[in-house]
Amino acid sequence: MEALLTVDEALAAVLARVRPLPSEPARLEDAGGRVLGTDARATVDLPPFPSSAMDGFALRAQDAPGTLPVVERTAAGRPASRALAPGEAMAIATGGVVPAGADAVIPVEYVVAHDNRVEIADPVEPGANVRPRGGDVRAGDVVVPAGTSLGPAQIGALAAAGLAEVACAVRPRAAVVTTGTELRPPGEVLGPGQIYEANGVMLAAALAGAGASVKSIAAVADDKEAHRAALMAGLEADVLITSGGVSVGPHDLVRGVEADLGVEEVFWRVAVKPGKPVSFGVHGATLVFGLPGNPVSSLVCFELFVRPALLALQGHASPEPAFALGVVSAAVQRNPQRDEFLRARSRLDHDRVLLEPVAGQESHMIARAAAADALVFVPRGDGELEVGETVRYLRLL
Ligand code: AMP
Ligand code: MG
Repeated sequence: MEALLTVDEALAAVLARVRPLPSEPARLEDAGGRVLGTDARATVDLPPFPSSAMDGFALRAQDAPGTLPVVERTAAGRPASRALAPGEAMAIATGGVVPAGADAVIPVEYVVAHDNRVEIADPVEPGANVRPRGGDVRAGDVVVPAGTSLGPAQIGALAAAGLAEVACAVRPRAAVVTTGTELRPPGEVLGPGQIYEANGVMLAAALAGAGASVKSIAAVADDKEAHRAALMAGLEADVLITSGGVSVGPHDLVRGVEADLGVEEVFWRVAVKPGKPVSFGVHGATLVFGLPGNPVSSLVCFELFVRPALLALQGHASPEPAFALGVVSAAVQRNPQRDEFLRARSRLDHDRVLLEPVAGQESHMIARAAAADALVFVPRGDGELEVGETVRYLRLL
């Protein structure tokens, strides 16, 4: 029997077929979760002026200790009308401009303040509580580099640096086609042998989280004509994701119909558990993923192959799955042939992340998987992972 691709080989084959999408201007309001297309540079020094870190009094450090006249009351957005002269103090608020001539701020808690003078008992260090101009980032410097996913911190930094709009990779357009005569939408009444369709909305949620826009979700019965119509429409997208119908049964029609439609298959089947029947192909610039029907298999294959492809399409600097290190809380039998991804709950245990596999690791057990927040990588091999052995894991978002 021909050896199956490993997870790493399969991922490399996917990424080799990705052609990054162009960028477009995006308002910050619409940039969250997307990938920055070009380096974003600060339009101003940040802070734009020497600013106070505290509510208190601006002064020359060398004038403390002492009792100083309070010659002006400044506030954030309301700078002093003139420079501070030797021997003077000015009231100042957090974020206020430290006046020219002052080199320190003493917090209001440390002084005895009167109407028009302030008593300072202790010495003050030059620079105390002054945030220097440009101390965070300088005008013209890169505030967020190209290829970064824009989360809340990056959006905040871009706004603080004066950018209203940045270049973001266009959102990959994704089409989802679920297959299976047994599937009914949630909310309807199940007939004999029917189950609720879970993968469509699950994949749509995963796609949105990876910066894609979901163009369409179709559900088709195990019927060639129905497959053909839905897949043909789906091939218009940047990414077509199917669920189910990629195994070896007589009702598994996806690969055959895709071949008829001109999809070039790059691989079928990977040495991974769950997810072995996963397929990947291309049709022009469209990436075509065939995820297995069992919901947990679909979820795992999305994380291993589809999310990295979406990030690479958006020009992300490191699209590969972001593994972290933890230790397993229970012994785990290795699979001799296939790398395995266990669903686990993570928790911090002193200085390490303890990963506890959830009870119920079968690939149809999406309800059990819903209790997990981590995918633990168990490399294929003999014997077992011992309690406390270090493993790589992926955080489930
Ligand atoms: P398949 O890959 O088509 O052989 O499907 C494998 C298993 O997953 C079968 O038990 C299907 O009923 C189930 N399944 C397939 N698609 C879905 C779906 N969209 N939602 C929930 N279960 C599914
Ligand atoms: Mg099926």
